[in-house]
Amino acid sequence: MQTPRLRIAIQKKGRLSKECQNLLKQCGVKFNMVGERLVVHAENMPIDLLLVRDDDIPGLIMDGVVDLGVIGENELEEVGLERIARNEPADYKKLRRLDFGGCRLSIAIDKDAKYNGPQDLQGKRIATTYPQLVKRYMDERGVKFSTCMLNGSVEVAPRAGLADAICDLVSTGATLEANGLKEVEVILRSKAALIQAKIPMSAEKQALIDRLLTRMQGVIQAKE
Ligand code: ATP
Ligand code: ZN
Repeated sequence: MQTPRLRIAIQKKGRLSKECQNLLKQCGVKFNMVGERLVVHAENMPIDLLLVRDDDIPGLIMDGVVDLGVIGENELEEVGLERIARNEPADYKKLRRLDFGGCRLSIAIDKDAKYNGPQDLQGKRIATTYPQLVKRYMDERGVKFSTCMLNGSVEVAPRAGLADAICDLVSTGATLEANGLKEVEVILRSKAALIQAKIPMSAEKQALIDRLLTRMQGVIQAKE
């Protein structure tokens, strides 16, 4: 079911939400975030913003429920691999990488442990929220391991005796340090990205997307 209004899924609350809202405003989209609404209508363009958990955004795009989404590449790639493994649609079009949400997905171990390369992780248990990305990285290097799936507090897993290592998002490294860990492998460098659903789009909607994208290029280039 397609609505004539362009639907854009963005993170409701979190590290991407402020910058994402600012970017849309700088592109001339006028809206007012009030209360706990799921849908916010733009005032000056046929655009609806869908405010959701970031975890839901890749699926909404891949199922063609919304037209556009702003999401961290880490989340996008993890969900993509998960859906491929389950034989679900995993297609999308990346319109552009954005200039925020930068981080890396890294493996970290006890800061005092010796480390000479991925083979040192053979047979170890790795705590992570990104089991698919870890598996891809380790499979490519022929390293067998096991996972411990955690949706939060990943960095305390080694100290708590739940895992030997972790694979988590890092920006400054301060959290790792505070937990007595050191970064040993970077498995993905991520930024926020603007993605589009691979569904038939009316000419009007596609023209609106093209216009938004052109403005976005301008806004981002002006900051560089
Ligand atoms: P939600 O409630 O929407 O599920 P969340 O807790 O999963 O939110 P956030 O912590 O807000 O997500 O992070 C959203 C995205 O911000 C991450 O997936 C990642 O792409 C990006 N990001 C940038 N820097 C960091 C960082 N240091 N730690 C975690 N995420 C980061
Ligand atoms: Zn999330």
